[in-house]
Amino acid sequence: MKHVAFTGEAEQLATVAEHRQGESDLLCQGGQWYLLVTCEIAEAEPNVHPVGFVGVDLGIVNIATTSTGTRHSGRRINRTREQDRKLRAKLQKKNTKSAKRRAKKHAGKEARRARDINHKISKCIVAEAQRTARGITLEDLGGIRSRECSRCHHMETANRPSQATFTCRSCGFAEHADHNASHNISHRGWWTWVRGAESQAPALTLIA
Ligand SMILES: [Zn+2]
Repeated sequence: MKHVAFTGEAEQLATVAEHRQGESDLLCQGGQWYLLVTCEIAEAEPNVHPVGFVGVDLGIVNIATTSTGTRHSGRRINRTREQDRKLRAKLQKKNTKSAKRRAKKHAGKEARRARDINHKISKCIVAEAQRTARGITLEDLGGIRSRECSRCHHMETANRPSQATFTCRSCGFAEHADHNASHNISHRGWWTWVRGAESQAPALTLIA
């Protein structure tokens, strides 16, 4: 088939126009049509001299919080997850052929939505790192490490009285707990990088 018109997001259309390779496939999945296009895009040279790291705290309430101040909230995704759970329970109770079919179709939709949101968030973070010449470091601190003050490094359970609040008992520094964690992750990323970079360097020979 040739000369079939198609449309999409402006950014996607530009990528397709510039980098399309060979033929494309049309696919129908869960009642939706998709155009699968292979694109070959040259990778940018990696930045081997980052000025610092964008620390990314991964969580559930906030899917990702960066040390540069962006909080990607999971509110929308969590709310629809709750609706999805209810619908699944309802369909399971019915247990008819059509209910199973609906459940299957819905599961596909759910997975695609989560993938889409994750993709958008990662693109945002990568763009932020590239713009500021930084590397990226991701972590789910959890436990005691999420109770460390990113300013004075004092660690105490009482530093984090609630899921969202961080207040250092030693220096008084207060911030959203996820932001505080993202700063710690950014520091740790930097140290890991420096240690790794050092170990790759040839050993110094001192001449007396
Ligand atoms: Zn402190």
